[in-house]
Amino acid sequence: MSNQEIIDKLLNGEMKLYQVDNEVSAKDATDIRREFLEQKYDIELSNISNYTLDMERASARNIENSIGVLQLPMGIAGPLKINGEYCQREVFVPLATSEGALVASINRGASTITASGGVNARVISDIMTRAPAIKCENAVEALKIKQWFVDNFDELKDIAESTTSHGKLIKIDPILIVGSYVYPRFVFSTGDSMGMNMVTIASEKILEKLAEATTATHLALSGNVCVDKKPAAINIVEGRGKTVVADILIPKEIVEKKLKTTTQTIVEANIAKNLIGSAASGSMAYNAHYANMVAAIFLATGQDAAHVVEGSLGITTAENRNGDLYFSVNLPDLPVATVGGGTSLEVAHEGLEILGVAGSGHAKEFAEIVASTVLAGELSLVGAIAAGHLARAHQQHGRG
Ligand code: NAP
Repeated sequence: MSNQEIIDKLLNGEMKLYQVDNEVSAKDATDIRREFLEQKYDIELSNISNYTLDMERASARNIENSIGVLQLPMGIAGPLKINGEYCQREVFVPLATSEGALVASINRGASTITASGGVNARVISDIMTRAPAIKCENAVEALKIKQWFVDNFDELKDIAESTTSHGKLIKIDPILIVGSYVYPRFVFSTGDSMGMNMVTIASEKILEKLAEATTATHLALSGNVCVDKKPAAINIVEGRGKTVVADILIPKEIVEKKLKTTTQTIVEANIAKNLIGSAASGSMAYNAHYANMVAAIFLATGQDAAHVVEGSLGITTAENRNGDLYFSVNLPDLPVATVGGGTSLEVAHEGLEILGVAGSGHAKEFAEIVASTVLAGELSLVGAIAAGHLARAHQQHGRG
């Protein structure tokens, strides 16, 4: 079949989009689906078609029904000095965004941090979770199933770990019961991968054993107690992905010179906005804009973009220490990876290489960099609010 014959079949509904892959290579299938859209809507997709990415590889792992590639501008902020446990150096952070003024703002924060001697960063916890929904006869039976998970932990750990050489089942906790439903939260460590595929495969094995050994039935592999890609109190308290803290003491003179305001004004802006405003609105994120930094660095490094919702959670604190500014960011739920998922896409790999964290052995180092970048952006925005600079900055960079 010629390309046009396939396109004609797509246009008249004789062929489904995914069936094109059975006829031609992934690269040609990509072109054909895009040309189908061009002909159907009489439009020209000359930018989506323009890419260097290996579509054969991406189609096998990262995308279905491909039509091309999305391009976003990428900038860098830095140097950003980090005094972490894993990252002890200056970095330039790649950031992909279409929001003008964001990179400039993070850059200002990085400059303030570096002039102050660097940001401290530590990974407090490192887990990935899956919590299926399991159905029992009634609450009494549900309690027995809960006990079954407790009593058989060692065997279930062996079963789960038989599916992976990097994943480890750390605990099953909590095990929630609601009426006749049970939600065991399987808690894994996943090495340098974000781990969702890994823990999903391991959890399936545990559920096969459950089906074999009990009368309970599992209704959903994810019962929403995980909690994946949704903001949730359990993730804030128990942690998910990396739990990271970053803090810094900024001398009074640097606050005044770089942020054009005073420590006390920043402390007050933080209390009014990030603490009281968030409490008054019932927000789950007591911060100014973690999502901005997390999204830009996630896009530049091939993280799962939907996890921005989790990375947006956390509390910013600011204290006046004799005129110097103590400032911290706390990210309880930051799923990040340096292997697996989208990190192997060419552009993402280059983004990780700029940071020196591509591949195995770097996930915690990367988490420290993300948290440090979040602190840079948070400091800059809260500082700008304190100085009344926000409107002016946006005007200067030509955006509202
Ligand atoms: P993955 O692409 O399956 O990569 C993880 C695999 O890489 C591991 O299973 C591991 O093999 C191997 N690996 C090699 N070196 C490693 C190292 N140093 N540390 C850890 N693992 C290493 O991805 P994943 O991280 O498990 O999952 C990420 C993907 O899941 C993303 O594409 C995301 O969008 C997607 N996702 C899936 C779900 C879901 O429910 N399935 C939900 C959300 C997101 P071994 O296991 O053999 O050790």
